[in-house]
Amino acid sequence: MLPAWPRRPRLVAGNWKMNKTSAEAVTLVRELVERMHARPGCVVAVCPPFTALESARSALGASPLLLGGQNLHWEPHGAHTGEIAGGMLRALDCRLVIVGHSERRHGLMEDDAMVARKLRAALREGLVPIVCVGETLDQRQANATAEVLVRQVRAAYDGLAPADAAATVIAYEPVWAIGTGQVATPDQACEAHGVIRATLDRVVGAGAGERHAILYGGSVNPGNATELFDRDEVDGALVGGASLDATALWKIAIAAGS
Ligand code: PEP
Repeated sequence: MLPAWPRRPRLVAGNWKMNKTSAEAVTLVRELVERMHARPGCVVAVCPPFTALESARSALGASPLLLGGQNLHWEPHGAHTGEIAGGMLRALDCRLVIVGHSERRHGLMEDDAMVARKLRAALREGLVPIVCVGETLDQRQANATAEVLVRQVRAAYDGLAPADAAATVIAYEPVWAIGTGQVATPDQACEAHGVIRATLDRVVGAGAGERHAILYGGSVNPGNATELFDRDEVDGALVGGASLDATALWKIAIAAGS
């Protein structure tokens, strides 16, 4: 039996994307496990590629460091070549799974309906989905940020029971900030998180927004993490590039936990 997912946790999750062989994953996980003895004061997770999950799990031992997948299919099994089911992630002790990352929405044509199905599949399998939402640069410049966030959150959460919604995490990831070194300002992040919380109130029920963990993602590094985490609206971060370095991810986790 898994421990209950905490209410609105502080969370730092590393998205390794298509990086690290299984042997390299062991090295990075061991470096993180070593640091985790000092207890950062927040939940820390890493999401290696599927091929490195098994070796990452072995390297974790009894560490509180959590493991997550980067994607899942909505079906539990079947004829879906190249896909991975939530149950397969659970069998490797994954606790989390990223859903709807912009690199999948924009690079692989994943649409809102697919994201909604993946979110439900994750919950069905006992995984905590990290649901990614965010606007492109064109959409921001056209003043359409709020409209995009409302649409993406509504499509993912419409019809979800409040208890199920509370067992998920949202990552606000402006597409223009991902991997570009151009981080959103704390004000921009707070404004977007406020739109997301208000949408959850409308779609899931009153109070749902306030109860929800919302991460910021997009070029977070040890130098900019503290000013983001100083804001109550920001409950942690989904970290791409900087999560490939144990010291950098650890410093971000310390900033989130203090
Ligand atoms: C991401 O891929 O989710 C991400 C935030 O990447 P980066 O930190 O490299 O911008």
